[in-house]
Amino acid sequence: MLKTNHTEVAVIGGGIIGSAIAYYLAKDKRKVALFEERKIGSRSTSAAAGMLGAHSEYKEFQHVYSFARSSQLLYKELYHELKEQTGMDFEMKKGGLLQLAFTSEEREERNSLMQLPAVEWLTREEAKRKVPHLTDQIIGASFLKEDVHVTPAIASNSFSKGALLLGAEIYEFTKVFSVVNEYSHYKVNITQGSFTADQVVIASGVWSNYFFQQTGLMNAIIPVKGECIAVLNDQLPLVHSIFHDQHYIVPRNNNELIVGATKRWDDWNEEPTLEGIEMVIKKAKEMLPSIQGMRWLRSWAGLRPQTFDGFPFIGEHPEQKGLYFAAGHQRNGILLAPGTGKMIANLISGNPVNSEWVEAFKIDRLPSAVSIGRG
Ligand SMILES: Cc1cc2nc3c(=O)[nH]c(=O)nc-3n(C[C@H](O)[C@H](O)[C@H](O)COP(=O)(O)OP(=O)(O)OC[C@H]3O[C@@H](n4cnc5c(N)ncnc54)[C@H](O)[C@@H]3O)c2cc1C
Repeated sequence: MLKTNHTEVAVIGGGIIGSAIAYYLAKDKRKVALFEERKIGSRSTSAAAGMLGAHSEYKEFQHVYSFARSSQLLYKELYHELKEQTGMDFEMKKGGLLQLAFTSEEREERNSLMQLPAVEWLTREEAKRKVPHLTDQIIGASFLKEDVHVTPAIASNSFSKGALLLGAEIYEFTKVFSVVNEYSHYKVNITQGSFTADQVVIASGVWSNYFFQQTGLMNAIIPVKGECIAVLNDQLPLVHSIFHDQHYIVPRNNNELIVGATKRWDDWNEEPTLEGIEMVIKKAKEMLPSIQGMRWLRSWAGLRPQTFDGFPFIGEHPEQKGLYFAAGHQRNGILLAPGTGKMIANLISGNPVNSEWVEAFKIDRLPSAVSIGRG
């Protein structure tokens, strides 16, 4: 049962994006209610490896890099803040990421990246000193020191618990069916009935399409399915993530290695395929041959919410005041969650927001108005 029939801000979707938005709104002393159809952080968010890849995913001259980097830096303060408030540890693991280079072309592509203070070039010998079992086939690796990682489902739950402790209402197993503009407010219809809200934020990942259509927008989010496996690493002292060609091996605290991930366009099924699993194992063996001796734990898949240009939609509906979208974070939703939460809270509170970000992520941008993001 709902505790109230009116809230200031309703957030629809309890993945990491909706949870971070609820947290930042609650911090701004907004009366917030968060609605999640299943359990907090249980869909695309729980499928993610959790890499905070500001440097591995974006080029530093793209406006989205500055957004990604600021979001990455927010995690540093959030880690202590949320741990203290909630008692939850989302395991921000240091060690950074080794982005392998197999050819001189790959090395050259990273020339501008290599100028940044958080990035260092390692020769093959230097890289192998960090991870002795790396393949001999590399010519070297970029060491992205600050592209650390977190455990996504715990991060999402830390945000929602943090919001709850600051007075937000969190409703799991509560589906939102429709959002109706009634001029001075929105009527939100849910599993248990309906309530009103002054403002609404749609943060429903790939399922945001439904609300775009319902509010008269043509925006589309396409699922890009990613398949992963976990293996038990009781053999190697691995602290760095290893990355090449959008495939990776990420060490978690409990000796698990997260190995991913495929890219299957427009596949709405949330189960992994044999072909996909075969592919992630093949790519993992190319990076770290000795992984083939490790014990199998499990496999899973998740849907990355992909927009036409690879950048998220974050902003207000072009015609309906007080209706916001924050969706389409594609392969970087964990990285971009704090930045998105803070940006939406600032937009709603009327605080200043970087105008380049507002322009880059606005809902009604045109395909030609922005540079093309990574697929
Ligand atoms: C294999 C894989 C690996 C990834 N690795 C990384 C990584 O290393 N780093 C990184 O930054 N990102 C990574 N990502 C991307 C990241 O997982 C996503 O960008 C992020 O989880 C998107 O978060 P979200 O909250 O928008 O979506 P979701 O987590 O899908 O949350 C949306 C929520 O909305 C709910 N919902 C939908 N409709 C309704 C409704 N009508 N009413 C109520 N609730 C509703 C859903 O149940 C869902 O829980 C990866 C993704 C995959 C698949």
